[in-house]
Parts: sequence; structure tokens; C-alpha cells
Amino acid sequence: MTRPVILTVDDDPGVSRAVARDLRREYGEHHRIVRAESGPAALEALREIALRGEQVAVILADQRMPRMSGVEFLEQAMDLFPRARRVLLTAYADTDAAITAINVVDLDHYLLKPWDPPEEKLYPVVDGLLAAWREAPDRPAASIRIVGHRWSARSYELRDLVARNQVAYEFRRADEPEGARLLAAAGVGAERLPVVVTEDGTALVQPTDGEVVEAAGLATTASRAVYDLVVVGGGPAGLGASVYGGSEGLRTALIESRATGGQAGTSSRIENYLGFPNGVSGDQLTTRARLQAEKFGTEVITTRTVTGLETRGQSRVVRFDDGTEVTAHAVVLATGVSYRMLDCPGLEEHTGQGVFYGAAATEANSCTDQDVYVVGGANSAGQAAMNFSRHASRVVMLVRGPSLEASMSSYLIEQIRANPRIEVRTCTEVVGADGTGHLEKLTLRDRNSGAEETVEASWLFVFIGAAPRTDWLEGVVARDGRGFVLTGPDLPRRTGETGEKGPPGWEPARDPFHLETSVPGVFAVGDVRAESVKRVASAVGEGAMAVSLVHRWLENG
Ligand SMILES: Cc1cc2nc3c(=O)[nH]c(=O)nc-3n(C[C@H](O)[C@H](O)[C@H](O)COP(=O)(O)OP(=O)(O)OC[C@H]3O[C@@H](n4cnc5c(N)ncnc54)[C@H](O)[C@@H]3O)c2cc1C
Repeated sequence: MTRPVILTVDDDPGVSRAVARDLRREYGEHHRIVRAESGPAALEALREIALRGEQVAVILADQRMPRMSGVEFLEQAMDLFPRARRVLLTAYADTDAAITAINVVDLDHYLLKPWDPPEEKLYPVVDGLLAAWREAPDRPAASIRIVGHRWSARSYELRDLVARNQVAYEFRRADEPEGARLLAAAGVGAERLPVVVTEDGTALVQPTDGEVVEAAGLATTASRAVYDLVVVGGGPAGLGASVYGGSEGLRTALIESRATGGQAGTSSRIENYLGFPNGVSGDQLTTRARLQAEKFGTEVITTRTVTGLETRGQSRVVRFDDGTEVTAHAVVLATGVSYRMLDCPGLEEHTGQGVFYGAAATEANSCTDQDVYVVGGANSAGQAAMNFSRHASRVVMLVRGPSLEASMSSYLIEQIRANPRIEVRTCTEVVGADGTGHLEKLTLRDRNSGAEETVEASWLFVFIGAAPRTDWLEGVVARDGRGFVLTGPDLPRRTGETGEKGPPGWEPARDPFHLETSVPGVFAVGDVRAESVKRVASAVGEGAMAVSLVHRWLENG
């Protein structure tokens, strides 16, 4: 068993050494003390620790560092070790920074320098943080190694899957020495890729999603046959319902077909979510929500798709794609929406090979100093363009409409206009893609003149709206013409002037509750619900509200 790490970062070498010395003296026996002298160096150290599958218990960061402030560093460190306890070291004048940090990085403590004697001012704080961390440590990072071809769509899918499930992994190209060595050790030929090598050295050849996340220690099957509440979909709405369901004592299971976080988990920066004045990465927000749901006892089951829902008396039965099922007293549908695919010659065969739907965060670093094309004119495309502009030499936004104003928030339009690396081409659409093995060229058409132009392009990220995938609910719950699930006031009333009898088959002597579907005890929340506001905050709010309606259903039917 490796010793959990306590990491300290301070740009003043003297202070840095002194902090590390104090920590080592008190905690060195049971912890590994790691010291860095800048934010980037400390992040690099954290990445290595994650790749080795070690754990980080406490991070102490100085606020005033030249290249990256302590708060900026802690914000990124949270992505790697969300449960590590965070301390900001400040001089007296930095108390404002500490208060900001409490909001931005959920700071556990701030320590004023100098803190002599450490026995009085440092150790009691660290003791408390270590005790809190031991109660809720990070899941030991399974260091998974994925060996594949650089431009293989399946190997991209696996990297995206593990990254979005916060599993530490290394990617090794099969044509590089380390990749070849791993394949030789596993006795697998390069024609049977991708291969996933688990922490204990087991080689999974062309594994399923479930096999990979299981190897990383995540649950893929339900531990019980019956739950009070089953939540289908692990985006903000489903996470909201899970946190409230679990915290209010309901035996709750959350079923997610790919990775918790949903669309929000792919957003590089959510700037309009309450309580985060500096914005928060979607991954960070939803990882915390998942931890919170688990803390309250919700069972999170990943890589399982729900394909059926049935009513058996007062029970609601949820069926998985492999035919197995779980029973619930109530169900919350939070399946959101999925990206629409762009339809033009050459795009489909390059999906995952230079063409990506959504932000594909695993790829952002690979675009360094290259041109990136982003299709779409809504907020999701704008956020992605801003994010890619940090790595790419140029980001070209391809927008079908004549301007961004109709589809994008004004704060984002301002950021894009002020960004010299982003070029916006309006009235432009992609009409063709080409390349051997991966994307090399795009054909663009000017929608006004009809003129076509071929450009060299290795990266295309598509954000052209989304639609609900609710076909499996056909004939079970009422939906609108576009497949969104109808709830509460949008369903026929049972009472009232029109003399209707409620939705077909409706039995309770009441109207459907506000978020209830046409099946009593089945609720719909977030983007999948007809007439919902497509926002993180409203999805979370509906998830929370649904749980109070679940209580009413459980109590009175
Ligand atoms: C790139 C991007 C940036 C965005 N930025 C912002 C922003 O800044 N501010 C803002 O307010 N909103 C933003 N949004 C919108 C916001 O993310 C969504 O409104 C929100 O995620 C909706 O949450 P949800 O839980 O309803 O659905 P989703 O986030 O779509 O989650 C649904 C989940 O259900 C799972 N699922 C689907 N079907 C099944 C099934 N049959 N079985 C099991 N699981 C299933 C999916 O895999 C998915 O994880 C952004 C969206 C995108 C794509």
C-alpha cells in the first residue's frame, strides 16, 4: 500500500523547503511529502501521482506565485484529485484571495504565514484535514493503460469514456516503443487493438465499455433488486435527483449509460451556474455532484443503458440492454438530449478520427499549434472555441446563420470577439470531408454565394444541437412530437372544465404532479422534459424538486 501524498507548492524556495520539512517531521512516516516551486510543476507532479495510481490527501498552495496563483492551481488540481483537502497559504494582505478561494475552489482552510510554532498553528489544521480525507478518500486511481492507434475511433471512445469517468489512464500508441512493449508483454498483435492493460497487468483485448470501467473499479451492476428510487441518466438533472434522493433516505440507484456529467460534463466552462462567479468546468461541477450523491448512499451504476420501463402494480420496473432489470417504487427519467450528427459526405467515416461531437476534452492538448474548426453558433460551440483557443494556433467557427447574436449569450460573443485566435465565419456550412485514415480536408460552402472552398483541416468539433433519445419510451409515457417527455400541466387534466379523465390509463384520483409523466410515480426532469429550460441550474433544480414529488407519490399514491 503506497503512502498518501501531502503536496506543498510555494515559489519561494526557502519557504517551500521549510513547509516540506515541517510536514515531513510530523507526517513523513505515513505520508509521502511532495514539494514543488510553481503551479505548473505541482500540476505535473499531481499528474504523475495520478498515473501511478497513488492518492493525494492534502494540498497546500501559496497564493502569490508568479505564473499561476494558488487559487488557479487548486482549481486545476481539483480535476485530478477532487477529494484532496485544500489549503491556501496567504500573507496577511491576501485574506481577500482566501475568501474568493472558498467560493471558487471550495477551500478547506487558509493559513496565514508565518505559522510558527507548527505544533500550534499548522499540525492541528493538517490533522483535521487528514482525518476528514480518510473518511472520504479519492477512489484509488486504477492506472489503466490503453494501447491503440492514434487515429482509431474506438481507442478515442475508450479514452473519452475513462476520462469522463475520472479514471486515471495513460494512452500509448501501438507504434511507439512503450506501446509495442505492452503489446508484446500481453502477447497481443497490433491487429487486435485497442488493448487495455489494467493495474494488475491483465490485458483486455478490444474490451467493451463495461469491461473497462469495471476494471477501473466502478460499478456496472445493481447490488439490489429493489430500490425506492431509480434515476435514469447521470447528467445534472439525474445527479440532482440522486443527491436529494440519497440525502433524504431513499434507497437510490443512478443508472448512466456512459459517464456521469452528461452534456454539462463536457463543458469546458460554465459561467452562469449559481455560486461560481469565476465559472466552473462542467467536469469539476459534476464530479463533485457524483461524489456528493455517493456520499449520501446513492449507488451509481455506469455504462448501463436503460431500454425498457414497465408498470407492475405499484412497482416500476426498469430494464437494461442485456435484459436484466431492477424494480423501483418511483423512477426519475433524466436522460437529457444527445448531439445531432452532421450529415455530409465523408464525415461519418472520420468520426473519432479528427471529427468529434462535443468538446472531446481528451483531444484538446493534441490540437496544440494546429487549426481547429468548430461547427455551431450556440453557447456550447462558443465555449469550445474559447477552450480550444488556449491550445490551437487558430480556431475557425463555422456558423450557418448570419450572426452569433441570435443563438449565443452576449458575454460569450464578447469573449470571442476579443480573442485574436478565433475567427468566425458566418453563413458557412461544411459540405464534405476527406482524408486517409484521419481527417485531412474539409469542403466549406458560402450559403449566400454558393461558392465552395477546400481547406486543410485535421480537427473538426461539431455542436449543432441535440435531440432526446426516448424511442424506448414509445407507448409507455406520453411524449411530444419531437420525443420530449410530457409532464404535469402539459398532460390532459383529470379534472376541470374540459371534463377530461387525465392521461390514458391514469388511475390516481388526482392530476399528475408538476414533473410527473403520464405514468404515476414516473417523473421526468431536465432537458428530456418537454418545455424545460435547457440549462444546468434548471436541470439540477428539477432533479431536486422531483424528489419531493416522489415522497408525495410514495406517501399517498
Ligand atoms: C458543451 C456544452 C456546454 C454547455 N454549457 C452550459 C452553460 O454554460 N450553462 C448552462 O446552464 N447550460 C449549459 N449547457 C446545457 C446543459 O449542459 C444541459 O442543459 C444539462 O446538461 C441538461 O442536463 P440533463 O441532466 O437534463 O441532461 P444531460 O446532461 O443530457 O444528461 C443526460 C444523461 O443521461 C444519460 N442517458 C441517456 N439515455 C440513457 C439511458 N437510456 N440509460 C441510461 N443513461 C442514459 C446520458 O448518457 C447523459 O449522461 C451546455 C451544454 C453543452 C453540450
